Amino acid sequence: MATKLILAFAICRLIVTVGLTLKPTELLHLGFDGQLSFDPADVDSASKDFGLLTRVEPLAVLHPSSALEVARLVKAAYGSDQGFTVSARGHGHSINGQAQTPNGVVVQMSGNGVGPRPKVRAGDMYVDVWGGELWIDVLRSTLEYGLAPKSWTDYLYLSVGGTLSNAGISGQAFNHGPQINNVYELDVVTGKGELITCSEEQNSELFHAVLGGLGQFGIITRARISLEPVPQRMRWIRVLYSNFSAFTRDQEYLISLNGSQKFDYVEGFVIVDEGLINNWRSSFFSPRNPVKISSLGSNNGGVLYCLEVTKNYYESTAGSVDQEVEALLKKLNFIPASVFTTDLPYVDFLDRVHKSELKLRSKGLWEVPHPWLNLFVPKSKIDDFNRGVFKGILGNKRASGPILIYPMNKNKWDERSSAVTPDEEVFYLVAFLRSALDNGEDSQSLEYLSNQNHQILRFCDNDGIKVKQYLPDYTTQEEWREHFGSKWDGFHKMKMKYDPRHILASGQQIFTPTFLTSSKTDSW
Ligand code: FAD
Repeated sequence: MATKLILAFAICRLIVTVGLTLKPTELLHLGFDGQLSFDPADVDSASKDFGLLTRVEPLAVLHPSSALEVARLVKAAYGSDQGFTVSARGHGHSINGQAQTPNGVVVQMSGNGVGPRPKVRAGDMYVDVWGGELWIDVLRSTLEYGLAPKSWTDYLYLSVGGTLSNAGISGQAFNHGPQINNVYELDVVTGKGELITCSEEQNSELFHAVLGGLGQFGIITRARISLEPVPQRMRWIRVLYSNFSAFTRDQEYLISLNGSQKFDYVEGFVIVDEGLINNWRSSFFSPRNPVKISSLGSNNGGVLYCLEVTKNYYESTAGSVDQEVEALLKKLNFIPASVFTTDLPYVDFLDRVHKSELKLRSKGLWEVPHPWLNLFVPKSKIDDFNRGVFKGILGNKRASGPILIYPMNKNKWDERSSAVTPDEEVFYLVAFLRSALDNGEDSQSLEYLSNQNHQILRFCDNDGIKVKQYLPDYTTQEEWREHFGSKWDGFHKMKMKYDPRHILASGQQIFTPTFLTSSKTDSW
């Protein structure tokens, strides 16, 4: 009875919401055995994301049990007279509604019991995983075989399909490339509802387009991910700098090293106010060894830079790890009194951000708006960026969240993928991971932080710093063309080939679904 009431309520709501766009009966007639949900709670959850900046309600949510079910839904959308959109949603950790869609169905790829379990092929050093699998669960399943993926994100409660649609980066990217460079094969449901297997050898243009493709060409239902033997433990080291040039010189030196005499992970962050040194990403320092900037004698306008590196080791190499770390640190120019070292199991390091998540959740500080801004900054302009942004726009003000900065090597990125990076051999990720709070403090408000993001982008524009947004957020096709630059024509061509009705991932706001526009202006 209750189910019938919910269904009746949902159908009424559909009619009101959709108007003439889509007959609700079209969706109901697809017959998904209860997997297609109109439950207001499901719809509400699919209309939000981690950013909490936009809210767009879908008509319904599909909880697929197989790739074929995803294909059936997309095929129905492709063939539908009225037309409706389909957006894959992993863990909904986007910032700007990228996995949301109005007038359509959200395919909830992640979640308990959705999709098949990971299949590890230890002999061939790969794992086949469902597109909605969270990286933490990929890790758990490969650990049973003493193996692990090579390239990570800092946080593991993200879906495989979600990060592969962007790039998937962390401190290992300088060495192994982003996650999109560590995939052998994909199964993809295209915008025509075809289920296609693709790889370097088979349907390679689709394979490369989908990687970093912002969900535009297909829904990833399976990914084959490359593995390595899992290290047992790691040394985790942080050192501080007051001199930005010394900091970036050392970071660039570390990512230029080849062979085994190098760190396995290189990241860093900026400390623009004293409060931040013990922020949610750097629990490392506290509570046993809290750090005071003043104690380090910083006379750098209050700005410090923290280099963060790790060295993995196995039981067999435990004896030499101290020596190796020392030899590498000797070549660096950090503040001598500022070496902080800890040693922990590899897996605890990979899952470090989750601990901070739990703490923030317990204080009600996780589910707040996140006006995040992620930029790739060319190496040649990183000094200008430091002057104008860290010391200028942000200098001495409350930071409201971590600011990461670390370099990557372009030659570790496959140019054939859809991901976009600056035109220089080395570029930096600068990530402003800030949380807005409604606590009466102006400088922590959403409006203030959003304005600051605009100021940063304007500064880059005015100073000729050709940044590329990572996890890009644009609303006009002109901006998207500029973002993709020389890749735009190919990107557009692939869209016409694999999703000609522009059904997929409309929340990215790159292409307008064709059924919504008769004039065919491509943007929303
Ligand atoms: P969703 O938000 O659900 O979807 C993102 C986009 O991908 C949407 O357009 C969606 O339609 C599409 N999509 C989702 N699943 C599929 C699929 N199976 N096939 C095709 N398209 C699909 N990123 C990094 O690179 N490195 C980090 O260290 C990092 N840390 C983060 C930490 C936190 C706390 C958060 C919130 C985000 C972080 N991110 C990081 C960003 C993250 O990679 C992206 O937000 C990613 O999109 C999130 O994955 P998701 O599964 O939640 O995707």
